[in-house]
Parts: sequence; structure tokens; C-alpha cells
Amino acid sequence: MLTSTTNIASILKAQREYFATSATKSLDFRLQQLKKLKFAIASKQDEILEVLKQDLGKPSLEGCFELAVLQDLSYAIKNLPRWIKPQKVKTGIDLFPSQAKIYPEPLGVVLIISPWNYPFSLLISPLIGAIAAGNCVMLKPSEIASNTSRLLTDLIRDIFPPEYIAIEEGGVEVAQELLSYKFDHIFFTGGTKVGKIVMEAAAKNLTPVTLELGGKSPCIVDREINLTETAKRITWGKFINAGQTCIAPDYLLIDKHIKTDLIKEIKQCIHAFYGDNPATTPDYGRIINERQFDRLKSLLNDGTIIIGGETNRDTKYIAPTILDDVTLDCAVMEEEIFGPILPILEYDTLDSAIELINSKPKPLALYLFSNNQEKQQKVLRETSSGGMCINETIMHVGVTELPFGGVGDSGIGAYHGKATFDTFTHYKSVLYRPFWGDLNWRYAPYQEKTIKQFKNMFTK
Ligand code: NAD
Repeated sequence: MLTSTTNIASILKAQREYFATSATKSLDFRLQQLKKLKFAIASKQDEILEVLKQDLGKPSLEGCFELAVLQDLSYAIKNLPRWIKPQKVKTGIDLFPSQAKIYPEPLGVVLIISPWNYPFSLLISPLIGAIAAGNCVMLKPSEIASNTSRLLTDLIRDIFPPEYIAIEEGGVEVAQELLSYKFDHIFFTGGTKVGKIVMEAAAKNLTPVTLELGGKSPCIVDREINLTETAKRITWGKFINAGQTCIAPDYLLIDKHIKTDLIKEIKQCIHAFYGDNPATTPDYGRIINERQFDRLKSLLNDGTIIIGGETNRDTKYIAPTILDDVTLDCAVMEEEIFGPILPILEYDTLDSAIELINSKPKPLALYLFSNNQEKQQKVLRETSSGGMCINETIMHVGVTELPFGGVGDSGIGAYHGKATFDTFTHYKSVLYRPFWGDLNWRYAPYQEKTIKQFKNMFTK
């Protein structure tokens, strides 16, 4: 759907005017809007699961992960009264008698652009923080998850007037149109390539950005580990949402001594989770569209398929697949996979695994399976990634109080819990000073004696 330029321009003008009335700033108003959003989502849970199924064949339980935004809403509603309070800070003796405070204030009119893989939660989750922080918001859902996009549009338009929260459906052309306007913040979730386009457009207006991007998240498996449990967590993290998860383990780096045994365990897990033929279970998702299907299928030309490999373009099905014998120059090791294909590399020493990770762009997530605490600390210390799990995959994203975001090529900024509120807030520093108690030494003509006193004071 194309939205006319005049329409977007007039909505943004109305949002600027509405924000200027300060209507969005009171605690009561913000709480009311969050409660309204929570009620609307809670009463549409079945429809949301249904559209996720239509777009991605998403099993209902995996759809429920997206409904966790309801928890985020409860958390924001509970904590907002505390978050919006000004914080007192100390002032120096030279400023006596005065008070200094940090005031959280909304940024203004903000833009949120989201992707298709968790199309519901990745639009709503940042929106919660933007509302909590007191902003007006323009939303752009992903056109590729079209059923979810429609539902989101209806839901938002039902409960919010466009001068407060507006939503524009559409693809690249609508996103680019939106990016041509000045916002007070842009929150983008998507691929690294588009992230650069967003940042370039934002730079023209000096607009700050949060970029939640992707990349290849490695998963190291050390020999000092319970292989059965490890295989279970890797299989789950890789194949939920048919591998279309930004923090899915992208490739495995396995200690060569346990490679054969771990592969055997993963094979058993795939069978235990999805049965003899994963194409027939309702618990396994589908690839979003033919374009992604074709891209993923071409990655199967690399290495040797040791598990899975079956595909069906008509149903956009790709079986949970493990690839062995891949090399670093294979396409599957060069681009983010973002699908149910798991390449395996083996290593001799942990140092060489770390070296490989550090030779690539900084990942969004890094996973380490090892019960050896020294090795845990070594990987923690010697690598950099947006986030990390030790003996787990994916689950760090569910810890409300852990800020979630990338570093380097995997993103800029972080959100979740209070971090989402912070993302859409400007912390304004304010000094209050009465007129009595002024120190005259700061006024010209300056005294040599005062300069000496300063020098002494600074060297103490
Ligand atoms: P994408 O970058 O193609 O699209 C994301 C959004 O940007 C969509 O709304 C799309 O309409 C818009 N867009 C696309 N091209 C554009 C352009 N040229 N100019 C302006 N806007 C444009 O990403 P996607 O394919 O929807 O999602 C997959 C990517 O997102 C993966 O790389 C994945 O790792 C990443 N991702 C990251 C996170 C995270 O939290 N870090 C979460 C989910 C997905």
C-alpha cells in the first residue's frame, strides 16, 4: 500500500503540534495509553497467533514468545512512576547553596521501523518504551509479514489517534519516504545493510538512531560439557521460527574431540522435537517467502548435508539441516544464514576458535557451552558481542533487565525493560541556584591569589 507524501507530512505535522501541547507528558496519560495497549493486545491474543501462523507458519507456542510484550507492558506500567522521577545529584561545595537534578524528558516525535521475523513483538516492544517516555510515534511494520502488518495497523488505529501514534504500512518506498522527514529518534530493527541506509538518512537531520541489526552469532561447544543437554538447547535455539531469529546460533564451533558425539545428539533432538518428517509437524515453522527460500536453498550447495536438506518451495519448507565440511569462504559462512541451516566447524584449541570469531564482525550474540569456569571467563574477556549466553541459547533476550542490542556491525544502542524507556528519553541536567551565597571570585577582574588557590586545589 502506498501512502501519499502529503498524508505522511500532514500526520507528522499533527504529531509535532500534539507533542507541543504536552498532552503526552503526564504520568497519568502515559499509564492510560500503556494500559489501553495492554488491554487491546490481551483481547486479541488468538488473532495475533493466527496471523503469525499465516505469515511464518509460526507454531502457537513460538507465537506466545511474541505475546511476551504483555509482560513488558506490565513491567513498564509498574515501574514508570519511579522511572519518570527526577534524580537528585550532588553539587560541589563551590555551588552551595544549590540543587542539581536529572529530569527525564521525552524526545518528541519518533520513528520505529520493524522487520518480519518477529513482526508483532519487534514493533510493539520499542513502542512500549516510546509511550512510557512520553513521545508521539510513527510506526512502520514490515510489509513482508503482511497479515501481521494488517493486524497491527488495525489494532493501533483502533486505540490511538494518528496525531499521537500513527502507523504506515508499506515497503521500502514508504520507509524511505518516512526517512526523508526529521524525527527526534529513529529506532530500526533489520539487516545491517538497511541499517546503514537508515543511519545515513538520520545523519542528514542529526537524528539519533538505535540500530538493532543482525549478523552471524557463533556457538562454541567445548568438550567439558553435557552433550545431551547442550544438543537440546542448540537445536531449540537454532530451529525455533525455522531459524529466522536474529540471535539464532548461526554456526557451531565444536571441539574436534566431541564433534561426532554432539552431531549424534543433535540428530536425536531434531527427531525428538519434530518427528520422522518435520514437514508434517505443527511445531515447525516455514520460511517467510520464496525470495528467502531461494536464498537459503542456494546455501545448501556448500559443504555436505549430514542431517535434513529436504525442501519444498510450494510450502516454503526447509528441513532442520546440519552442514559439515564447510569452509570459511563458503557463502554459508559469509552471510547471516537466518534460516534452518546449521554449519559445523571444528577447532583444535579454544584460542583458535576465539581467533576465528575475532576475525569477523562483532556478532549480536555469542554462545559458549562449557562447564569450565576458566574457559568461560576467557571467552567472555577475549571476545566482543552484543550479548552472550553461557550454556544456553537465545534466552538472554527474555531477561527484562538485561539491555538487548548489538555492538559494531550488529547494532547501536540497546533496549528492553528500563533500557527501552531510556532509549526514548533525554536526560536533562538542571541546576537550581538561589541568589544568596554567591562567590565573587569567579567574576572579573580575576585575582592572582584565586588562580593559585585553584592550582593547589586541582593538584590535591
Ligand atoms: P530489512 O533490513 O530488510 O527490513 C527491515 C525494515 O526496513 C522493514 O520494515 C523494511 O520495509 C525496511 N526496509 C527495507 N529496505 C529498506 C530500505 N532500502 N530503506 C529503508 N527501509 C527499508 O530486514 P528484514 O529482512 O525485515 O529482517 C531480517 C534482518 O533483521 C536480519 O538481518 C536479522 O538479523 C535482523 N533482525 C535483528 C533483530 C535485532 O533485534 N537485532 C531482530 C530481528 C531481526
